[in-house]
Amino acid sequence: MAYTAALNRYEAMPYKRCGSSGLKLPVISLGLWHNFGGVDIYQLSREMVLHAFDKGITHFDLANNYGPPPGSAEKTFGRILKDDLHRYRDEIIVSTKAGYLMWPGPYGEWGSKKYLIASLDQSLKRMGLDYVDIYYSHRPDPETPFEETMGALEQIVRQGKALYVGLSNYTADQTRQAVEILKSMGIRCLIHQPRYSMFDRWVEDGLLAVLEDEGMGCIAYSPLAQGMLTNRYLNGIPADSRAGKESGFLQPDQVTHEKVKKARKLSTLAAGRGQKLAQMALSWVLRDTRITSVLVGASSVAQLDDNLAAAGSGAFSPGELQQIESILSEG
Ligand code: NDP
Repeated sequence: MAYTAALNRYEAMPYKRCGSSGLKLPVISLGLWHNFGGVDIYQLSREMVLHAFDKGITHFDLANNYGPPPGSAEKTFGRILKDDLHRYRDEIIVSTKAGYLMWPGPYGEWGSKKYLIASLDQSLKRMGLDYVDIYYSHRPDPETPFEETMGALEQIVRQGKALYVGLSNYTADQTRQAVEILKSMGIRCLIHQPRYSMFDRWVEDGLLAVLEDEGMGCIAYSPLAQGMLTNRYLNGIPADSRAGKESGFLQPDQVTHEKVKKARKLSTLAAGRGQKLAQMALSWVLRDTRITSVLVGASSVAQLDDNLAAAGSGAFSPGELQQIESILSEG
């Protein structure tokens, strides 16, 4: 059936300015790393994307290699755009990235100009787009000079193939260097995409300060620690979960006894606040004013709805923050 977006789609979701740029992002964005590949059920992927859009999620995050197989999440998203969302293209922020292995040989990964330019052309074809809104260097390349990687991003912006550019997985120092190079080329670095959750707080040690200083936004990926900060693993590893499916990205042995113990305690604390653990985990990342958006994944519409409830709610008292700190520092 032809899709028409919900008329009230902008009523509940808060939108936050991305650093000091002109662009606003929803505080909750949807990532298509898992559950949108060629191996997944298209109708479920479609339902999640359309439901997200109906609820005010205007930002969808992809990468060249998302699938499996690599490239297929972009194809799935391209199909949804063509079939359902084409009328709404100007209401949507699409991001994609290049950095990880995509094709064989010396030009299929990392940060050369050859790779970044060719990969974006492939991504645009797969999604049926003329341009993406944000293009990321997915990871710093230890061998290619940053001048070359940033030069590729500059060329892409000048050609109109991306409106904005961003960095992902760059350290604080690498970010500073890359941003200075972009600035010298007259290009603003819009945003950084790091991993950040209650279980992984490396960004607090320098990166967030750099982003604030540079007027950049920050979109936190895996804010639920791939599901470990939800009720998913509180009573064992379900067969249909990311760890249960052994996708390789969340190994069963990463779901440690210590993490589950902390998640149980956090879950009790969340219940006292009238939230589920997943909602509290998202509210906690968003408590930092330097965070523009949390980039969640989901394997069902119900999970997405749970996560959406964290938007615009859940301020913490100093006592609650202290309790979270003490649970996280246990062991
Ligand atoms: P999350 O930490 O949000 O984990 C998502 C997973 O947690 C879901 O697939 C689901 O797992 C489970 N989950 C989500 N919501 C709930 C809920 N309410 N209740 C119970 N379980 C829930 O994020 P991801 O690790 O998926 O990453 C999100 C996005 O970030 C990616 O899609 C991608 O766009 C981006 N990303 C970027 C990276 C980069 O290098 N730049 C690296 C990784 C991700 P299950 O399948 O078990 O149901």
